[in-house]
Amino acid sequence: MPDDILYSIRNLTVEYKTRAGAVRAVDDVSLDIRRGEILGLVGESGCGKSTLGKALMRLHDGPASITGGELVFDGRNLMNLSLREMPDIRGAEIGMVFQDPMTSLNPVQRILDHLTETIQTHEPETSIATARTRADELVERLGIRHERLKEYPHQMSGGMRQRVMISLALALRAKLVIADEPTTSLDVIVEAKFLDLLKELQKEFGLTILLITHNIGVVAEVADRVAVMYAAKMVEVGTVQDVFADAKHPYTQGLLKSVPNIKLDSGDLYKMGGQPPSLLHPPSGCRFHPRCPFVMDICSVQEPAFEPVIGDHLASCWLYQKAVAEKTTGKQEIRHG
Ligand code: SF4
Repeated sequence: MPDDILYSIRNLTVEYKTRAGAVRAVDDVSLDIRRGEILGLVGESGCGKSTLGKALMRLHDGPASITGGELVFDGRNLMNLSLREMPDIRGAEIGMVFQDPMTSLNPVQRILDHLTETIQTHEPETSIATARTRADELVERLGIRHERLKEYPHQMSGGMRQRVMISLALALRAKLVIADEPTTSLDVIVEAKFLDLLKELQKEFGLTILLITHNIGVVAEVADRVAVMYAAKMVEVGTVQDVFADAKHPYTQGLLKSVPNIKLDSGDLYKMGGQPPSLLHPPSGCRFHPRCPFVMDICSVQEPAFEPVIGDHLASCWLYQKAVAEKTTGKQEIRHG
C-alpha cells in the first residue's frame, strides 16, 4: 500500500438482514483515504454513506454485518482483528463524530470527567492531573472556555458539543476522524465556524478527516477530494476541483446542478427525475440507469467498472468506456433526456 494512503477500503460489502431478504447497503465499494486530507463522502439519504462510515470502525451489530472486503488501516487489515481488539482502534486511532453528539456524550457526566476518563481508559499510564491538563488545553484550543468543562452536555449548545467530540478524537491523537453529518443540526453561522475549525485542525494536527454529508456545498467548502455514492455503489471520486469543474458521472452532474447558485440567472432549480431505487431489488446494470438522461442499451444490462477517466479522477459510467460498450453490444443508442 503506498505510504500516502492511510485507509484502503477494498471491495467492501455490508448487508442488513431483513424479513424481506438481505439488503446490501454498501456493495463492493473500494476507496482510498489519503493521509492529511479531508475527503467528502456525499450522496442521497439511504445511499449507504453512513453504513460505510460505521463499517470503517466495524461498528455494526444486530442485523448488519460486513460480508466481504478488506479494511486496511495504516498497514493493518482490521478484518483480521477480533471484535475484542477493535475498541483499541476505536477512539484511539479512528475517532467518530456523529450527527447528534448527545448520543455519544454521557448525559450524567461532566465534560471534563468524560474527557479525562476517555484519555485514561486508552492510556492507563497517564495520571489524572496530566489527562485533565491535556483535556483543558484541547477544549480551549477548540474555543471552549475552561469554566465550561465543568458543565454537563445538555448545558452546551450543539456546536460546542460537536467541538467536544472533536476534542475527544484529538485527545487520543486519532489518525482518522470520521464525521457523519456533523453540521446537520447546526445553524448556518455555527456550521460555517465548525467547518473553518475542521480546516484549521487538519492543518495544525495533520488530521485526516472523512466528512460524510448529503450537502455537496459543505464538501466544496472544506474538502480536498470528494467521493460520491449512489444506491450502495461508489460512482465517482476525484479532487474537489476536478469533480466540481467537470463531473463525469451523470448522477454527480445532477447533484451539482441541484445546488442553488446566486451567480446564475434564476429559473427553476434543476430537479433530478425519478426516485432512488430500493436496495432490496436494485436495478440491473448501472443502478442509475432508470434516472439517467444519457442511458444507453448496455447500461441496464451490464454494470460499468469503477475506473480512472483522467488521472486519478474515477467514475463508473459506460459513457467513458464506450469502446468496451460498443464491442459488447454493438453500436449504442444514446438517449439524451
Ligand atoms: Fe447513465 Fe449509463 Fe453512465 Fe449509468 S452507465 S450513468 S445509465 S450513461
